[in-house]
Amino acid sequence: MERTYLIKPLLDETLPMIDHGKGVYLYDTEGKKYLDGSSGAVTANIGHGVSDIIEAMQEQAKKVSFVYRSQFTSESAEKLAKKVAEMTPGDLNWCFFVNSGSEAVETAMKMAIQYWQEKGIHTKTKVLSRWVSYHGITLGALSLSGHTGRRARFVSLLEDFPVINPPYCYRCPYGLESPSCGSACAQELELAIKRIGADHIAAFIAEPVIGAAGGAIAAPKDYFKIIKKICEDHDILFIADEVMTGFGRTGSMLAMEQWDVIPDIVALGKGMGAGYAPIAAALASEKVIEPILAGTKVVMSGHTLSANPQSCAVSLAVLEYLEKNKIVSQVESKGDYLKSLLLQLKNQFSFIGDIRGKGLMLGVEFVEDAATKTPFSRKAMVTQKIIALAKEKGLLVYPAGAGIDGVNGDSIIISPPLTITKDEINELVLLLTDSFEAFSKQLK
Ligand code: PLP
Repeated sequence: MERTYLIKPLLDETLPMIDHGKGVYLYDTEGKKYLDGSSGAVTANIGHGVSDIIEAMQEQAKKVSFVYRSQFTSESAEKLAKKVAEMTPGDLNWCFFVNSGSEAVETAMKMAIQYWQEKGIHTKTKVLSRWVSYHGITLGALSLSGHTGRRARFVSLLEDFPVINPPYCYRCPYGLESPSCGSACAQELELAIKRIGADHIAAFIAEPVIGAAGGAIAAPKDYFKIIKKICEDHDILFIADEVMTGFGRTGSMLAMEQWDVIPDIVALGKGMGAGYAPIAAALASEKVIEPILAGTKVVMSGHTLSANPQSCAVSLAVLEYLEKNKIVSQVESKGDYLKSLLLQLKNQFSFIGDIRGKGLMLGVEFVEDAATKTPFSRKAMVTQKIIALAKEKGLLVYPAGAGIDGVNGDSIIISPPLTITKDEINELVLLLTDSFEAFSKQLK
């Protein structure tokens, strides 16, 4: 092997080299085929090699790929902003384009702080969040993230924002059960606000379905209504981090629609470009933009490549493709089918503790003892082993979750492209079964 200069996730790891992709499959340079059961990092929502997107990419590249956002606007950026406003609920009409989910969260956070400043209130600067959450890798977004593993090295540089427990029903921190618990974990926000003081809090942020930190943990039905009401009662904005869930992953354009809640600000990413271009956005409601428009008129964020015509044209083509092929309306039934097969695996393998999630964002949590929900020891590296076995067999799944304490816990996310067919779901589950069987043998 030639010397490499590429910094890979594990520096001494040899990764397969990818050659091309088509639909739900990826092919490496050795000719090995992988079923993309995770859409990469829950991103390739319409699958690989879609010709409509490639054509849109070429068309835009022939015209212009880059203009600087404070010198020019572009047809593709304007059209994309309009499309996003049309596709999302309520009056979430204003789009600020960035290049990654982390940047979208940073921008959402800054918009929230600025909203209060424009109203003459300068003390409301904290953005509360939850433990067992992930909002991004940049220091602002990491400050909001209750992902202890990713925070660990940088704790001294971070704000200590996460304050409340997650709606992790499988490991309820109160030992209660939903729905009789009355979503005690949501009610906790009220106490946290009172302790900190609403005068200091700009917003509260949450993922509708907890992804990387938890393994597809969906909140109970009444959870976000309670959260939104508490936010309103205390004059605090509600930010939904829909970087992973946005644009159909859970069966609606925004996952929050399934909780019947319209956030004040939304962070979007991943599925917006579906892996065809780096693009993300912070989406603001009329309420949030109004004092900014009446005040300084500048949202204090932005990156060199924000709203570049190339990424915007690609994202527009992705969103049009979703609409044209009625992809999102099929997600619920595909997800239900996949979940029903995963539930059958739970009966077959004693190390499966929980199957959960929404739409095509499903999670499997692994435990040493299903009766007591005892996690495997860290040293056993269960998530890593299962992911490696699946990859060997030609199936990609996404690592997630480190339990309620952020340290002990193993889970994976299964989130294939939303375009997956029933036959491909069957194939995914067969490959997963093989991988679990191989892991069972290792346990003996
Ligand atoms: N927010 C959520 C919910 C995410 O899942 C992620 C990434 O996994 C991010 C933010 C950060 O996005 P990015 O990796 O594009 O910076």
